[in-house]
Amino acid sequence: MVVEDEARLARFLELELTHEGYAVSLAEDGRKGLDKALSGEYNLLLLDVMLPGLNGLEVLRRLRAASDVPVILLTARDAVMDKVSGLDMGASDYVTKPFSIEELLARIRAALRQRDARRPAAPLRCGALELDPARHTASFGGQDLTLTFKEFLLLQTLLENRDIVLTRDALLEKVWGYDYAGETNVVDVYIRYLRQKIDDRFGVKVIHTVRGVGYVIKGGGT
Ligand code: CA
Repeated sequence: MVVEDEARLARFLELELTHEGYAVSLAEDGRKGLDKALSGEYNLLLLDVMLPGLNGLEVLRRLRAASDVPVILLTARDAVMDKVSGLDMGASDYVTKPFSIEELLARIRAALRQRDARRPAAPLRCGALELDPARHTASFGGQDLTLTFKEFLLLQTLLENRDIVLTRDALLEKVWGYDYAGETNVVDVYIRYLRQKIDDRFGVKVIHTVRGVGYVIKGGGT
C-alpha cells in the first residue's frame, strides 16, 4: 500500500509497482492509511512522512502497536530527524525524495526478504504426515508423533528434500552437524526409530531406502 498525499507521485508509484507485478492500493492521508494498514491485508507499506491528518511517523507509531508489516518511509531530503525517529519506531527502511524507482524497488525487495527471513518455516506436509517446524509438532493423520529432537530434525530434513535421495553423509551433516564424531550408523538407527513411530505404527511406508545410496520420502506421500 502506498500512503502518499501527492496525487501525481502516488499515481506514478501505483503504475510502476503494478508494472513490477505488485498489487497496489493507495491511501491519500494518514488516517485512511492507518485504517487500511490495520486490516492486515498488506505485505508492505510505502509511507510518506509529511501527510495531512496523521503524519507518517504517527501512523507508524500507532501501526506498530498492532502490526509488524514492513514499512518504508518516504522522507524529505533534509528531514534527518524523521529518518532517525522513523527507524527507531520500527520502519524497515526509508528513501529520500526525490528517489529513483530502481532504488525504491531494490529497497522493497530487501524489506520483503527481511520479513521472509524472520518468518518461521511453514508447516511441511506429505500425505497424512504433517510437521510444523515453528511449533515443533509432528502428526500423522492428525495423531501426534512423539519425536525426540534429532528424530524431528531428521524427519524435517527428509521432508524438506522430498523426492531427493539423501545419503547417510548428507543426513549426518544436516542433522548432526559437520563435526559429528560418533558412530556413522547413527543415521540408520534414527531412521529405524522414525519407522517404528510412523511406518510400523500406522502400517504405511513413508521413508524409503534406496539401496547403496540413502533415504527418501516421496512426494505422493504414503
Ligand atoms: Ca506529502
